[in-house]
Amino acid sequence: MESQNPTHMKFGTKAIHKGVEPDPTTGAIMTPIYQTSTYAQPSPGKHKGYEYSRTQNPTRDALQTNLASLENAAHGLVFSSGMGAIDAVLKLLKPGDEVLSSNDLYGGTYRIFTEIYQDFGIKFKFVDMHELNRISEHFNDNTKMVWIETPSNPMMNIIDIRGLAGVCKKFGALFCVDNTFATPFLQTPLDLGADIVMHSVTKYISGHSDVVMGALMMNKDDLKDKLAFIQNASGAVAGPQDCFLVLRGVKTLHVRMQRHCENGRRIAHFLKSHPKVDKVYWPGFDHHPNHNIAKKQMSDFGGMISFVLKDDKLESAIQMMERLELFTLAESLGGIESLVGHPASMTHASIPREERLKSGLKDSLIRLSVGIEDAEDLVSDLEKALG
Ligand SMILES: *Cc1c(COP(=O)(O)O)cnc(C)c1O
Repeated sequence: MESQNPTHMKFGTKAIHKGVEPDPTTGAIMTPIYQTSTYAQPSPGKHKGYEYSRTQNPTRDALQTNLASLENAAHGLVFSSGMGAIDAVLKLLKPGDEVLSSNDLYGGTYRIFTEIYQDFGIKFKFVDMHELNRISEHFNDNTKMVWIETPSNPMMNIIDIRGLAGVCKKFGALFCVDNTFATPFLQTPLDLGADIVMHSVTKYISGHSDVVMGALMMNKDDLKDKLAFIQNASGAVAGPQDCFLVLRGVKTLHVRMQRHCENGRRIAHFLKSHPKVDKVYWPGFDHHPNHNIAKKQMSDFGGMISFVLKDDKLESAIQMMERLELFTLAESLGGIESLVGHPASMTHASIPREERLKSGLKDSLIRLSVGIEDAEDLVSDLEKALG
């Protein structure tokens, strides 16, 4: 179909159409849930491209094609969780290899690095990457991979993707970007020189807090072959039912993201002007240290906001979170409903306190995932809870 040519489609059109073709047998408009583990072969080795569902599944194929198109990638692979996707990337490494990473990371990523792969002889170095002028000093002959998040979780730091891609290229290191917070609607790191984009699909892409899934996107064929081999050999694949749910959720990604950004902007400014709030971390502020880079590499600033109270006491933060009614206290982010979290005891509890404090993650830091409810209701909920 000519209309399916990705180069002629804009984001929302791709989100709705890419990978999803009317079913050849019935004309069904939605890709069926191919709930099957295996496929009939007319003669040994002669099959229609499908042998076993760990290796290939048509519902998964449709989703992989769709997600790849959103990141302007040649290839996409989906996994049973974001951590499953990260695990597959780390299996590209060998003992003795080093990974350079930002010092402000999702707790689970820090945990798989330091508590699992370090024991297999891989070294991890965590450095501040907001300023790139001295970054080369941290590379050596063993640096095989660079792993970053931007905006980062939960401090909302911004890293210059294009700038860092240049340095990675010079040192021959594979450059991986966890794009969970921004989503491809706000930024496409492969276009800026990254080698692999990773997503916790669980969050914005799925968008309805009902699926756990991960994804990797890449352009290079050899990289795709290696990662598809790992996906099949290690087996952390996403099931057809979950792939169907994400195919459904992703169709509104662009519409949801517009509202997340709109509500996020409103709430960031509300918090900034509130007398009880001290610092607000949101890349859309002019005074955010890397606002100019955010403006250059992102099309808007998203719905994730962190803040600390003037009264920097753990109990005050806890009281405020307990008083919220619309913002639900829960792990995770990126769904249509607003959530509030306490990184120090929840998502980032596996990072040692001293490490956390170095990146500014105080005990009283509160993180909001601003949903797509009516902004007035969200603001009044926060107003009441702040007291
Ligand atoms: C949630 C999350 C992950 C892990 O993904 P799961 O789907 O929970 O396994 C990785 N990175 C970021 C930024 C996340 O928010």
